[in-house]
Amino acid sequence: MTTVIRCGTLFDGTGGEPVAGGVVVIDAGRIVAAGAAARTRVPPDAAVIDLGRRFVMPGLVDAHSHISIVPGHGDQIGQLRRPPVPQALQATANLRRDLAAGTTTMRVMAEEHFLDVDVREAIEAGVIEGPRLLCATRGITASNGHGRALSSFDGVDAVRRGVRENFARGADHVKLFATGGVSSMATTLNASGYSREEIRAAVEEAERVGKYAAAHAHGGPGLRLAVEEGVSTIEHGALATDEDVALLIQHKAWLVCTFSILFHPEGIEKGDAGRPAIMEKVRWARGVVEANFPRILKSGVRFAAGTDSMHGQMAYELEALARFGVSPKDALVAGTRRGAEACRADREIGTIEAGKRADVIAVDGDPLADIGAMRRVVFVMKDGVVHDGLTRRSET
Ligand SMILES: [Zn+2]
Repeated sequence: MTTVIRCGTLFDGTGGEPVAGGVVVIDAGRIVAAGAAARTRVPPDAAVIDLGRRFVMPGLVDAHSHISIVPGHGDQIGQLRRPPVPQALQATANLRRDLAAGTTTMRVMAEEHFLDVDVREAIEAGVIEGPRLLCATRGITASNGHGRALSSFDGVDAVRRGVRENFARGADHVKLFATGGVSSMATTLNASGYSREEIRAAVEEAERVGKYAAAHAHGGPGLRLAVEEGVSTIEHGALATDEDVALLIQHKAWLVCTFSILFHPEGIEKGDAGRPAIMEKVRWARGVVEANFPRILKSGVRFAAGTDSMHGQMAYELEALARFGVSPKDALVAGTRRGAEACRADREIGTIEAGKRADVIAVDGDPLADIGAMRRVVFVMKDGVVHDGLTRRSET
């Protein structure tokens, strides 16, 4: 059965100009044609979805999140240490919220219990609704590293074994913690958790099976080691210097920006309000990010966007990019095609083009004129299936 979406405006994410009155033709979960109505063949018996007053674009790619965490609940590492059932229930609610807000693909950047793999299967089987998941499974971190919940891996051999076990259990990529973080008490943002040899081992094990490694890194020697040893995406980069950014560009590494967890009032600020050491880090990191990111985002480094567990907040991420000087069009591309490229999923998703999976969303308003329109996602299709009746996220 062929379906045609009639669009008010079609923004296909390829970088071209938006098309007024475009159409998207879909069959068996895939896009078969898209473009100006006059130049696109639509079978006469196609079912029509009329979005003639809407701005239609590719589904959002959240390039960095966690399915079970809610930052506003505080103690994120403690949340990861909970037993699998409460985590799975929380994930079910979180992922509905993400899908309702237009995220059709999410790259999961560490969970315990191989929770993300089981949840991915439940989504694929239609048991629950949620974005398509690209899974890291367990984060690879040192005993004294940031992100350590239940699992830790010290030494080259343990890192190799951990990565191999993750892949055996269905991981799509490696998530390595190369520096400290904002939300853990005992780490500093630019200290390096792993040696060069340990980082190299993780990258090697990923590349050996045709995958890649991503590294949580804010700055300092840990960030540089990760890039030099071939990590493909650097997560956060809050303290990245101009030299760090030049290194990323040189090595064709991606920077995955995660602003909402740091800046949104429902983020770390809400969850860890009672922990002065963390709140001090939050205030300091905000100042550094505000000072540096307008320059970083203009440097030519390739960047994508992730909510880092701020479920349903991709709009906030794209607004933050715009606030730091990125054009609305480039912000939309960061949230779609660039995200797909960073996650190495761009052969399947990220743009509205013939052959790709039919991940299509529509918003009320024109986000190219006002990026805030991204808060009003009114239509979500994933793999050609329309998801309506999802709980709309609150306007926080
Ligand atoms: Zn994260």
